[in-house]
Amino acid sequence: MQNPFENAMHQLDKVAKIKNFGDDFFARLRAPDRDIRISIPVQMDDETFKIFEGYRVEYNNTLGPYKGGIRYHPDTEINEVKALAFWMTLKCAVAGIPMGGGKGGITVDPHKLSKSELEKLSRGWVQKLSDILGPHKDVPAPDVNTTGEIMAWMVDEYTKITGDNTGATFTGKPIDKGGSEGRGVATGLGGFYVFDVLRRELKLLEKCKVAIQGFGNVGSNAAEIFTKHGHIVVAVSDSKSAIYKEDGLNLEKVEAHKKSTGGLKDFEGAKNITNEELLELACDVLIPAAFENQITENNANKIKAKVVLELANGPTTPEADEILFKKNIPVIPDILANSGGVTVSYFEWDQNLKGEHWTEKQVFEKLKPMMEDASKKMLAKAHEFKTSLRMGAFIVALERIKEKI
Ligand code: NAD
Repeated sequence: MQNPFENAMHQLDKVAKIKNFGDDFFARLRAPDRDIRISIPVQMDDETFKIFEGYRVEYNNTLGPYKGGIRYHPDTEINEVKALAFWMTLKCAVAGIPMGGGKGGITVDPHKLSKSELEKLSRGWVQKLSDILGPHKDVPAPDVNTTGEIMAWMVDEYTKITGDNTGATFTGKPIDKGGSEGRGVATGLGGFYVFDVLRRELKLLEKCKVAIQGFGNVGSNAAEIFTKHGHIVVAVSDSKSAIYKEDGLNLEKVEAHKKSTGGLKDFEGAKNITNEELLELACDVLIPAAFENQITENNANKIKAKVVLELANGPTTPEADEILFKKNIPVIPDILANSGGVTVSYFEWDQNLKGEHWTEKQVFEKLKPMMEDASKKMLAKAHEFKTSLRMGAFIVALERIKEKI
């Protein structure tokens, strides 16, 4: 597995060759403000104690409080968290929200814990980090394997420790605990708004064939949204299997099949394929919505999609990026494509601080123009510097940070 932080720094090296922001500025962006490792002791259900390793990286707060999710995964480690925190810094900047970048995590397979162990672990993460968190300091959110319920435990723990009852220290909370309408679908919906601006520019069909890697929160919502807007989802995958149906999958039935069998395999009328085959399908839009380092120098040459929409963070390695650019396959970059999630998280924070609750319609009416405007700015920079969309998005973000630093 490539080191995601090195990949992120390669991207920074590349933008330095396109626009000179000055060595001091780049040096500053290479170093997170703080990277913190903690140990979290948890008394397990069998009364034994287990120590888990946790992290919070506060990367850069030039534009506002650190903002970024918390990931629970057995492979989570400090370099991954640093890379994700760096991308959050750029993501908030490109989306045009007044937030900085951070990320957190715990090395754990949450599926192996009981609910009470998971709750103790989540509260333990907050106990160790409460000093640095706060509505105007650092505002975490969910990421892979963390849920609204976990955010509710965390905000409750934070309130007990600090007395802060704004609820604004964590976003992605359940609606009845101060969460925002629309947060659940925001990442997929934001990605669709970005795609729709670029679809016209890239002269793609009104009815595109879409393949989605990862059928979790982001991937399944994206599948539904693309279908609702007239596109055809031909393939989806999860960590265990992938399925393909040329004339489109019935998503409701796929969800029901997954619920009843625990996976996607053997869905009626669809062909079982491998995860590699899904990435290499001849389709219009390939959406990686799982993890980092999925499109690499080993498979980039085999990609046949007309465009890649990165809803996962860091799914394309720098080497693969070059190959796709040469093959004339545009990659709509993660820092913009999946920024709908953090944008609605920012709305949640704003509502909590103002004591307001906006309707879903109000949330989407605010989200859409922000995503469209950011997409047009990215496109304009890519054209101006005759570069990729990713570099265009980086330049928009870095200009905003540089102006305030
Ligand atoms: P999730 O845990 O809900 O879903 C992840 C999905 O990926 C699961 O279906 C899992 O089975 C699948 N998966 C894992 N390994 C796979 C593999 N090798 N091949 C195919 N599928 C595989 O997580 P999520 O919240 O949907 O996040 C997915 C990605 O989107 C992550 O990169 C995350 O950082 C990014 N992201 C999420 C949000 C958000 O709002 N949740 C916002 C921005 C970015």
